[in-house]
Amino acid sequence: MTVIGDAVIIAGIVLLFLSFIPVRMLIRHLPPGATRESWSVLVGIIGLFIAGYITYAALRWQSHETIADMLVPAIFFLTAVFILLVSYLSLQTALSLQRISRLERESITDPLTGMYNRRHLDRRMVEEVERARRYGYPLSIMLFDIDHFKKINDQHGHQLGDVVLKNLARILSGAVRRTDIVARYGGEEILIITPHTELIEAYELADRIRVLVQDSEVADIRTQDGRQPIHVTVSIGVAELHKDMESTRILIELADEALYKAKSEGRNCVIQAKNPEDSS
Ligand code: GH3
Ligand code: MG
Ligand code: MG
Repeated sequence: MTVIGDAVIIAGIVLLFLSFIPVRMLIRHLPPGATRESWSVLVGIIGLFIAGYITYAALRWQSHETIADMLVPAIFFLTAVFILLVSYLSLQTALSLQRISRLERESITDPLTGMYNRRHLDRRMVEEVERARRYGYPLSIMLFDIDHFKKINDQHGHQLGDVVLKNLARILSGAVRRTDIVARYGGEEILIITPHTELIEAYELADRIRVLVQDSEVADIRTQDGRQPIHVTVSIGVAELHKDMESTRILIELADEALYKAKSEGRNCVIQAKNPEDSS
């Protein structure tokens, strides 16, 4: 019995030391804050528990002759198992949640540019339009298309085209409000939803962005003469939501028509869609 009692004590102490591994890993995965601090406190408590356990082991070493003597080592041991299990399961839960949030982020993000993807755009478009209608505030959208982008790809390669797209996404995302939604609509077409924005404001913003893009260096190439900066321009169609619009598709169609007009009027310009009520 004595040998069993001592073995149970040693096993319990080992399990407690082992529980430091998942707890430490868990702390590394948690963002700074109250939860992380609480787990750091738990490390201290496990340390205290080990110290108490070792003290008990020293005092009661080789003195477990009866079943009653086994009671305390057994409770210590089960507590150690419990702490190890809780630590391990907490780590697994944190890792699973991390994986879920990464998958969720990936499912709404365009991998090349980091902007929202089309699927998320369609969903947000419906939500934002419903919200704007319910609370009666204006909402506009802007549809961007890079001018002569095929030429960039043909002259400098698809990879450089990708760099241009990435940098353009960065410029556009940085130029709008955090509450605006910037998404990749198609190949090199970007759509921005601007809630709380009337057509004229959207037009002015789009034109500021147009100038910003025109003045920005979106990539560079190495030539015999050194570094050559790459510039692009964008054409933009702007449209505003109206009460009679039956679906978000009609709003996008209006912006698309305006964009088409911007292309036919020479590119590097902004065209605002006509209010459908005005034409009737
Ligand atoms: P326009 O001024 O009329 O818009 O001329 P454009 O050459 O830009 O014509 P269009 O908008 O039809 O061209 C789309 C091009 O964009 C074709 C395709 O090769 C390129 N493109 C689309 N997606 C990507 C992408 O992810 N990476 C790269 N590098 N190119 C892309
Ligand atoms: Mg295009
Ligand atoms: Mg284009």
